[in-house]
Amino acid sequence: MDLSLNGTQLMVRKAVRSFAREALEEWAGVLDRESRPLPSELTAEMGRINLWGIQAPREYGGADLDGISYTVAIEELSRVSAAVGLGVTVHNSVCLAPLLKFGTQDQLNRYAHELASGKKIGGFTVTEPQAGSDAASICTTAVRKGDRYIINGQKAFVTNGGTGDIFLVAATLDPKKKARGIAVFIMEKNMPGFEVGKVEDMMGVRGNMVSELYFNNVSVPAENILGRAEDGFRVCMQALDIGRIGIAAQALGIGMAAYEAAAGYAAERRQFGRPIGEFQGVAFKLAEMKTGLDAARLLIYRAAHLKDKGLPYSVESAMCKRYASSVAMEVCREALQVFGGYGYVKDLPVERYFRDAKITEIYEGTSEVMNIIIGNAIMKEFERM
Ligand SMILES: Cc1cc2nc3c(=O)[nH]c(=O)nc-3n(C[C@H](O)[C@H](O)[C@H](O)COP(=O)(O)OP(=O)(O)OC[C@H]3O[C@@H](n4cnc5c(N)ncnc54)[C@H](O)[C@@H]3O)c2cc1C
Repeated sequence: MDLSLNGTQLMVRKAVRSFAREALEEWAGVLDRESRPLPSELTAEMGRINLWGIQAPREYGGADLDGISYTVAIEELSRVSAAVGLGVTVHNSVCLAPLLKFGTQDQLNRYAHELASGKKIGGFTVTEPQAGSDAASICTTAVRKGDRYIINGQKAFVTNGGTGDIFLVAATLDPKKKARGIAVFIMEKNMPGFEVGKVEDMMGVRGNMVSELYFNNVSVPAENILGRAEDGFRVCMQALDIGRIGIAAQALGIGMAAYEAAAGYAAERRQFGRPIGEFQGVAFKLAEMKTGLDAARLLIYRAAHLKDKGLPYSVESAMCKRYASSVAMEVCREALQVFGGYGYVKDLPVERYFRDAKITEIYEGTSEVMNIIIGNAIMKEFERM
């Protein structure tokens, strides 16, 4: 068992870290304050260094990297800007990855290159106003008409919704069939009847234009169904298995940023004639942070490693997201405490890390839903014994 990063993975860390520090750092606070997306030149620059096609094959213009390199890239981006990390992970893991996994050759020819190069930005949308954790209860309908489907409905909280171009959209062919009636459609924003609704005013990750989407009689060719029509729920669940590793890496990146800021401050800030890090009350906080973050990283790498090996990883993916997101929340809470009053004001980024961390416990399945997945697997295992 070798727990160290290999040469390629170290190179990815170095390259993404220096890009994030040199190009994104100055934008991270601006995106948050103004709730605005990254300038298009930076999005294009990220395409040039393959961040929009991290694991896509080279034939589609991707970097063809392994799953651990992918998590390393998301961690490094999210250390600087969780909002940018979010946009990149959603595009790669719940849009491009399922397209590569389930797409027909025709779908790959039409969409894979544009997505992997970052010329088009992708999203994935299941959630609706009345269907969140209970994803099988979606109401967006798809009705067959000749060789096309007519899509009607509303989606909520779509990451990359305001800026994206291509979306994987879950719709029901028959609401009575619940999960077994769902299909996933590849939809383009410029299809007539496709409208972007309100962009959300959020607590964190404010540089991502998370929005509503509306479909009013959008006519989609039948060849845009991803996977088999009645198999859409499975496509969505497999997409989320991949996605959750990315969200865990995002949580790790946010936690690392908060931990490093707190450790640096604890070494510098003096009270009672000593650096505050010399007080056990503060040093123990740093010890807990570092231990939790290292443990989260190991769970993330394990899930990515299993996925790369083609072994089952759904439960491990849920476990790494469940753990990394709560570690990130705890680390940010304690980091803010180490900064005292200075942690509470907007001059320093610690309060942003705290706000950004919270969402990792909610999207791509809440912590409670992760526990349901893990708990069900435990019961299955022990009931067999
Ligand atoms: C910033 C942001 C970006 C997002 N991006 C996307 C996206 O790109 N695509 C997309 O499809 N969705 C997206 N979402 C939606 C997100 O995945 C959902 O918000 C999440 O799955 C929870 O659904 P909900 O908000 O409807 O909460 P609900 O499902 O209503 O849950 C409310 C509470 O009840 C708990 N709960 C629900 N059921 C159970 C149960 N059986 N047992 C125990 N507790 C339960 C939940 O854990 C939660 O605490 C995004 C959300 C946000 C805020």
